[in-house]
Amino acid sequence: MTIAGEQKSAASGRTFTRNNPVTGEPATAAAAAGIEDARAAADAAGAAAAAWGATGPNARRALLGKAAAALEARAGDFVAAMMSETGSTEGWARFNLMLAAGMVREAAAITTQIGGEVIPSDHPGKLAMALREPVGPILGIAPWNAPIILGVRAIAVPLACGNPVILKGSELCPRTHGLIIEAFAEAGFPAGVVNFVTNAPEDAGEIVGALIDHPAVRRINFTGSTAVGRIIAKRAAEHLKPVLLELGGKAPFIVLDDADLDEAVKAAAFGAFMNQGQICMSTERIIVVEAVADAFAEKFAAKAKAMPCGDPREGKTPLGAVVDQRTVGHVNALIEDALAKGATAIAGGTSEGVLMCATVIDGVTSEMNLYRDESFGPITAMIRAKDEADAIRLANDSEYGLSAAVFTRDAGRGLRVARQVRSGICHVNGPTVADEPQMPFGGVGASGYGRFGGKAGIDAFTELRWITIGTEPGHYPI
Ligand code: NAD
Repeated sequence: MTIAGEQKSAASGRTFTRNNPVTGEPATAAAAAGIEDARAAADAAGAAAAAWGATGPNARRALLGKAAAALEARAGDFVAAMMSETGSTEGWARFNLMLAAGMVREAAAITTQIGGEVIPSDHPGKLAMALREPVGPILGIAPWNAPIILGVRAIAVPLACGNPVILKGSELCPRTHGLIIEAFAEAGFPAGVVNFVTNAPEDAGEIVGALIDHPAVRRINFTGSTAVGRIIAKRAAEHLKPVLLELGGKAPFIVLDDADLDEAVKAAAFGAFMNQGQICMSTERIIVVEAVADAFAEKFAAKAKAMPCGDPREGKTPLGAVVDQRTVGHVNALIEDALAKGATAIAGGTSEGVLMCATVIDGVTSEMNLYRDESFGPITAMIRAKDEADAIRLANDSEYGLSAAVFTRDAGRGLRVARQVRSGICHVNGPTVADEPQMPFGGVGASGYGRFGGKAGIDAFTELRWITIGTEPGHYPI
């Protein structure tokens, strides 16, 4: 852990172990924080807040620029840590690092753009301003599935906006998250500005709760499951602390009758199977209109069958391992339930271990769990729609609303459909999986609220204040 600029073990001396999902061997031993460690991290962030908030934008920019370079310089360490802790492919690890470094550079670029405005006042001689100011320490909680991107996203814009941070690392990738903090430390952030806490899985509720409750912590951002997002939102609500929630998804991918089917197949396969389907934006539901459903299914099944999974350490296959045996059980249960209720596996099927094959289930209907539940694995549901209106209805028949896609050769039609889909993000003729640092990223409904990225990130991590200066004598009614 990193608390007040120092590398720390837990005060109790306790540690926990993360095992490699492919070999079952220990991958990392990490500090298992107790409540006193969590409080110390929040105290350190609180103590650093005034000085960091007063640090000039170009000084913050310079440190963020160095952090981006320090991240890239540790590419080998990141790849090794991510592969051993999460079972990811090397390609996914390198992509994570590339996008994460881009996010830090985008955060560096916005430090001089955190502007306000002068608002005309009706009072003579009064100058009225809306000023964006740092909010104080921000707690960021990030998951394991895109660990460098999401760990960096939790802290980069908050830091750029002048707030100290506490990153609560994932129990599934404490070393990968720890490497982010080492890179930021190497960049030279002052002590207490970047803090890092890790905990044993069984202590998550207690440690996260202690951090949310700490008076120094002013805002929280959380990326993870909808179930835990609800717990965090409730706890933060007790203190009226704002939360940004990036939660689960069940992204729909609509294929209309005039779509370029070859392009749609490529984008759907990437979106469904990149990182073994363990991305919040993963294509979970392919909604195809009847007119082209058989043609699409044939091409898509062939594509999925040509995407084998294998030991990620050998680096020969597009799919690596899923993160744990729990995912294997969950995905297998979704497949068995769908098949028992009349669906067909047109590629793949159940798997025994963490090397799960790309699976496409055709004929999925609302009676099946796969229709509704996030799989977070290498499986996608094909749902047949009568027409465009039915496809939109099906896309919106989900509690989630993070990302979506529409394929059509008619851009105007694509835009009309995109605007009727209830989601934070929708791509016409692009995959559901896409992210760029400068874009507003976030969902609606059970996918959460608030936006990371670009100007939206500035809104999320600053306080907008109304400040006036009177320059003439006042006139008061009493
Ligand atoms: P998770 O919710 O199980 O864990 C995330 C964090 O929650 C961990 O750090 C853990 O310590 C903490 N936690 C666990 N139990 C807790 C409790 N009782 N109280 C407080 N905190 C607790 O999520 P995960 O399995 O690590 O990640 C997968 C999920 O994340 C998927 O649902 C996925 O869709 C979602 N996700 C969303 C986005 C997005 O941007 N919307 C991105 C990636 C992943």
